[in-house]
Amino acid sequence: MRTVIITGGTRGIGAATVRRFVEGGDRVHFLYEKSDELALQLARELGAIPHKCDVADENRIKEVFSEIGPAEVLVNNAGICDYGPINYVSAETFRRIMDVNVTGMFLCAQAALPGMLREQKGAIVNVSSMWGRVGSSCEVAYSASKAAVLGMTKALAMELGPSGIRVNAVAPGVIVTDMVKNVSDEVLEGLRQETPLERLGKPGDVAEAIWYLASEQASFVTGTVLDVNGGFVIGG
Ligand code: NAD
Repeated sequence: MRTVIITGGTRGIGAATVRRFVEGGDRVHFLYEKSDELALQLARELGAIPHKCDVADENRIKEVFSEIGPAEVLVNNAGICDYGPINYVSAETFRRIMDVNVTGMFLCAQAALPGMLREQKGAIVNVSSMWGRVGSSCEVAYSASKAAVLGMTKALAMELGPSGIRVNAVAPGVIVTDMVKNVSDEVLEGLRQETPLERLGKPGDVAEAIWYLASEQASFVTGTVLDVNGGFVIGG
């Protein structure tokens, strides 16, 4: 049974991923920032193990990863976004998005590595976004952070490949979760129409891609970005 750590596990893509790995027979630990109620609900329902932890908090990350012990798989999913023209984005907001989406991912990878290096085996899957590939208007911090995730994924794949550790990313398109709850129905419908597969994504679509990248079936796959976007962005 593999030990798997998933960040941002209480809802959306993270919760679907927790579910997918539990169904696949793994022992799943998940990190969450705020909602004790959602975390306990998921833990009770699935038997996954919750840890309250802000991924941008270096000391807490070290504490939690050492409590969990060695893990074979790390899914860096936790992320936040903000929407608005650049002149309305404060430096504080920009920094917080980079802290959670990029530094948090770096800290979790660093904390998971000692166990993986000892075993000379492991898989890390980072959740980027199609906006990290092509940029999204009025999402300067989010797009920059998700592009950084792609750079980090490729650099780590190069660095850790010789140690038997694979590092890949998924780049989801528009997935119906709380992250898009402030987007109007009209805009969502427009996005659906622009998608070649003519539907919006579900959290489970992304969870399946993450599951594959972490599996033995992907044992020769590293440094890649798997688009899960219905064809919204092809290439880029
Ligand atoms: P969501 O807002 O429903 O879930 C985000 C999760 O991250 C939550 O569980 C939240 O508690 C957790 N989180 C946020 N800040 C955290 C922190 N500091 N420490 C620990 N956990 C924290 O959103 P989602 O759509 O499920 O997003 C999951 C990931 O997928 C994010 O990285 C997001 O950028 C990415 N993504 C989402 C979409 C989309 O359309 N929904 C598209 C592309 C990429």
